[in-house]
Amino acid sequence: FNENFDYPTRPDLFDWTEDHYPNHPSLSPHDDTKPNDDVISTFHSLSSVRPNVLDIGCGFGGLTLALSPLLPHHTILGLEIRAKVTEYVRLRIVAHRKEHPGQYQNCSVMRTNAMKYLVNYFPGGSLDKIFFCFPDPHFKKKNHPRRIVSERLLTEYAYLLKPGGKLYCITDVKDLHDWHVEKCSAHPLFVGCSEEEMVADPCVELMRTETEEGKKVEREGRFGHDKYYMVYKRVDGN
Ligand code: SAM
Repeated sequence: FNENFDYPTRPDLFDWTEDHYPNHPSLSPHDDTKPNDDVISTFHSLSSVRPNVLDIGCGFGGLTLALSPLLPHHTILGLEIRAKVTEYVRLRIVAHRKEHPGQYQNCSVMRTNAMKYLVNYFPGGSLDKIFFCFPDPHFKKKNHPRRIVSERLLTEYAYLLKPGGKLYCITDVKDLHDWHVEKCSAHPLFVGCSEEEMVADPCVELMRTETEEGKKVEREGRFGHDKYYMVYKRVDGN
């Protein structure tokens, strides 16, 4: 991958409004909290709209789009490292916005390396949900440090999530699922959700059915080929 990514030095220096959420519902003219003064307005736009749900490694954007109507009061961002795939998702969102006026204004996509730059974009304690759907398995042991869920990165995800915020993982690779469970269970800032909690959470159903990889597993329907998932909660600690 071309590693020449632009990124802000601090999250508050990034304006999400103009390129990502120009018609975000919270920016509607009926919103009394919207200031009129130009200077304040700039400040307002730099800070008032910011993503709080991340679809990391969003691929072709199926989940990013599906989360938009499910979580109308959240701001959803798909993150993808491949330029062409990111552009495809961007155009997909533009088309959905055109086709359904007033909808899909709370979702967007951005190209970045999510293993490197999350803290440049998102303040600590600002995220409600982080999704890792069918992440690259990096099968060989020597490549395990490249896995996007790791001890080190879980500490970063815990920093970014609000207390009670959720981290979702789904994969069709049993070994990788076991790795996810092992790493999250061992981390002092995460606690596993019960089966009942997961079943009651509509986001779980979406990550199984609306991701392109989830659909592929369904289509292929191979025996012994399954979708394994887990949800962990950020504990209310420090
Ligand atoms: N989540 C999608 C789904 O379930 O259909 C796509 C899964 S695909 C197997 C994994 C995706 O993660 C790829 O599109 C890949 O380009 C992206 N990816 C890998 N490493 C990444 C990184 N460090 N930052 C952002 N995206 C990454």
